[in-house]
Amino acid sequence: MKFLDEYRDPEAARTLTRAIAQLTTRPWTLMEVCGGQTHAIVKYGLDELLPREVTLLHGPGCPVCVTPIEKIDAALELAARPDVTFCSFGDMLRVPGTDRDLLSVKAAGGDVRVVYSPLDAVKIARRHPARQVVFFAVGFETTAPANAMAVYEARRERLDNFSILVSHVLVPPALEAILSSPRCRVQGFLAAGHVCAVMGYREYVPIAERYRVPIVVTGFEPLDLLQGIYMCLKQLEEGRAEVENQYSRVVARDGNGPAQRLVAEVFEVTDRNWRGIGRIGMSGLGLRPDYRTFDAERRFALARRDGAAEDSECQSGLVLQGLLRPPDCPAFGTRCTPDHPLGATMVSSEGACAAYFQHRRGTVGAQHAVPKDRRGTEADGAGRSPSER
Ligand code: SF4
Repeated sequence: MKFLDEYRDPEAARTLTRAIAQLTTRPWTLMEVCGGQTHAIVKYGLDELLPREVTLLHGPGCPVCVTPIEKIDAALELAARPDVTFCSFGDMLRVPGTDRDLLSVKAAGGDVRVVYSPLDAVKIARRHPARQVVFFAVGFETTAPANAMAVYEARRERLDNFSILVSHVLVPPALEAILSSPRCRVQGFLAAGHVCAVMGYREYVPIAERYRVPIVVTGFEPLDLLQGIYMCLKQLEEGRAEVENQYSRVVARDGNGPAQRLVAEVFEVTDRNWRGIGRIGMSGLGLRPDYRTFDAERRFALARRDGAAEDSECQSGLVLQGLLRPPDCPAFGTRCTPDHPLGATMVSSEGACAAYFQHRRGTVGAQHAVPKDRRGTEADGAGRSPSER
């Protein structure tokens, strides 16, 4: 398939892994901050193709996973109201709140609907003026333009029965929070290509300079990721800390101007809680004063819920910060599975725990038994081809 097969070519992957092996002279730790990239790395076994010196950590790149539990609880309260039609992307439905999830509210008779776009929710509001329609607006910079458009349209049409429950988060402040932590081991980042397609990558330049970390804007296919890793390692080996763009077929330095203007028209930057991580200053988006009438929390006068507790057994906060590999969680695959998830990282299609459960369930025991520094790599002939996995 054009635009896919050429980025999954096994021979090109072998060439890149050999180049990475030749380049690497000492231990390096990189982090990707995108659930799509995490799944591609785990699915294609890219981490296992790398030299033993290179460690990949998974960061807080799954938007569903970082949506704070108090927002899920707010969604549950709204969805249970008899006057509300609650619209959401499908992967939010099974994310556990404090004591249940949206699917259980739906099963109990709540009007919960899966939509594929926030504009679908606007359509429902238009068709059903007697219903209050609430859209669950979560995600990174990638989904912000469409959510902004929905609110913009609702305001233009004077739809007074449409509102959004906002939980938008921003990637650059999350990188800074990770780098500022005393436990940080990250020496280079793969930045998410789709986020940069919207926002460009100028915001990453001061971060790379301040923390002396290379940041490479990277795509999602196996060869994109291997090339992004190569570019990041090359900078590290050469003592450089710059922002580079591996995903130039999609991402421009300044991003998508019209999308950014629409986001800036509707949203403003605000503090935001991240599930499992805590509060990060100026790390999210909230509605600007002109658009606050579309804020569901204000419209329904929801009480603040700060401090809602995660399941005590779930360590997804450590997973989201790259401090714990999912298979190292004692509940992984036993008490916590996609059918009975204890945390959001096991539910979401972009969650790191779900990635390991889906693609490595049968092999994590063996990987545990053999520390990475004694596992084979592509460089010494024992690695696995990404195309066969
Ligand atoms: S495996 Fe389950 S319990 Fe463990 S961190 Fe992941 S989501 Fe939480």
